[in-house]
Amino acid sequence: MFQKILIANRGEIALRVLRACKELGIQTVVVHSTADADAMHVRLADESVCIGPPPSRDSYLNIHQIVAACEITGADAVHPGYGFLSENAKFADILAAHNITFIGPSGDHIRIMGDKIEAKRTAKRLGIPVVPGSDGAVTDEKEARRIAADIGYPVIIKASAGGGGRGMKVALTEADLEIALQTARTEAGAAFGDDAVYIEKYLQKPRHIEVQVFGDGFGRGVHFGERDCSLQRRHQKVWEEAPSPALNAEERARIGGICANAIADLGYSGAGTIEFLYENGEFYFIEMNTRLQVEHPVTEAITGIDLVHEQIRVASGGGLSVKQEDIKFNGHAIECRINAEDPRNFTPSPGTITHFHTPGGLGIRVDSGVYSGYKIPPYYDSLIGKLIVHGRNRVECMMRLRRALDEFVVDGIKTTLPLFRDLVGNADIANGDYDIHWLEKYLAKED
Ligand code: ADP
Repeated sequence: MFQKILIANRGEIALRVLRACKELGIQTVVVHSTADADAMHVRLADESVCIGPPPSRDSYLNIHQIVAACEITGADAVHPGYGFLSENAKFADILAAHNITFIGPSGDHIRIMGDKIEAKRTAKRLGIPVVPGSDGAVTDEKEARRIAADIGYPVIIKASAGGGGRGMKVALTEADLEIALQTARTEAGAAFGDDAVYIEKYLQKPRHIEVQVFGDGFGRGVHFGERDCSLQRRHQKVWEEAPSPALNAEERARIGGICANAIADLGYSGAGTIEFLYENGEFYFIEMNTRLQVEHPVTEAITGIDLVHEQIRVASGGGLSVKQEDIKFNGHAIECRINAEDPRNFTPSPGTITHFHTPGGLGIRVDSGVYSGYKIPPYYDSLIGKLIVHGRNRVECMMRLRRALDEFVVDGIKTTLPLFRDLVGNADIANGDYDIHWLEKYLAKED
C-alpha cells in the first residue's frame, strides 16, 4: 500500500480523495494555486504545496510543478481526481518514468480512449454496441454525404479529440451537412488543436446511460451497474441517478456483462465509465472516460462500496475488494450538482458565501469543499457541491431529496438549488420520464 498520496486537484473532489486516504491510513499531500490557499482540502491535508498562480495552466495543469511537489514531499502515488490531468496520458507516462504511481489506467489506455475514433473502433472490437456511423475520420464532403445517406439523417458530426460537448454539430438534412462539417472542424481545430471529425447517426430521443466499470489490474473486469445522466444542459450533466428508471434487471446485467468483459479483454486497470446513448431498448457506445466521474457517489450509495478505496487498492497492486457476485444494488440514489450559477441563465456567480448550511439525516450525503465565509475564486468551474440522496426505492429517494433541498442554505451567491427544487416537483421527473433533451426544453419553456 502507498505511504503518501499527492492529490492533484481542488474543490470537492480533492476533499473526497483526501477522505479515502485518511480512512486507509495514507498520508496526504495536496497541491494548490495561490487562489486556493484557504481551500478546505489545503486545511485538512497533512502537507500542502503551492504550485503556482491561479490560472489552471500555471498550477493544476503544470506537470513539472506537480512532479516536483511529489519529489519534495516523497509522495509515492498521485490521485488526479477528475478534469485537469486525470485523462492526460503524458502525465501518467511522466509519473511512471519517475517511479510514482498514477492512480488510474496506463497512459496507453488513456490515449486510446481519449481519441474518440480510436475509442469507438476499440469498443466495436470488444463487442460493445456502437452508434452507426463512419469508420474513422471523415475529411471530404463527398465521403460525408455518402456516409450520411447510408446511415440516414439526422446525423451528428463529432470531434475526434472532443470533450465537454464541444465540436459537435447536427445536420438534420443533406442541406445542412456542408456547413455542419465545416463548423465542427473549425471548432475542433480551435478547441483541441486537432480538426479530425467523424459522423454518427443522431439519435433523437435517447437517454444517457453509463456503466461504471473497474479493471482489477490482474486481467479481470467488473461492473458496478449504471447511472442515468440524461438530465443535461449544453451536454453538461445536471442530475444523475442510479439505477436508471429506464432499465430492468435483465438489461442491466446484459450491458454490465458486456462492459465487464470488454474491460477484462482490454487488460484495463482502475476505474472507468463506458457511456452510452440508450433508445428503444438499444445501447449505443459514445465514449469511455478513464477516470473517476463527478457522479460516482450515486453508485457508491446503491452498492455501499467506496470507489476511491478501490482505485487506491487496484493502483497499489492489491486488486479489488469485491468480485462481481459481491456487488449488489440496493435502493435508489440521486445526485444534484450544485453550481455557483444563476439558476435561470446559468451565468457564473462567484463571490463570498456568507452562510452555508447543509442538510443531514438518513440517506443524505453532501460532498463539498466550501464553508461559510469561503470566497469562490473566479478561475475554476462553478461546482460548489453535490447533494447525494439515497432511499430504499425511487419514491423514497425523491421524498428525501425534496426535504434535503428545503434544508440546504447557501447565502451570498446565486446557486442552482432553486432549479432542483423545481425539478423535484415535476411530474415527468417524478415518473423518470425524460431524455437528454428534456431539461433544455423545460428551461426554454420556463423563460
Ligand atoms: P463529450 O466528450 O464532448 O462530452 P460525448 O460523445 O460524450 O461528447 O457526447 C456528449 C453528449 O452529446 C451526449 O451525452 C449526448 O447528449 C450528445 N450526443 C453525442 N452523440 C450523440 C448522437 N449520436 N446522437 C444524439 N446525441 C448525441
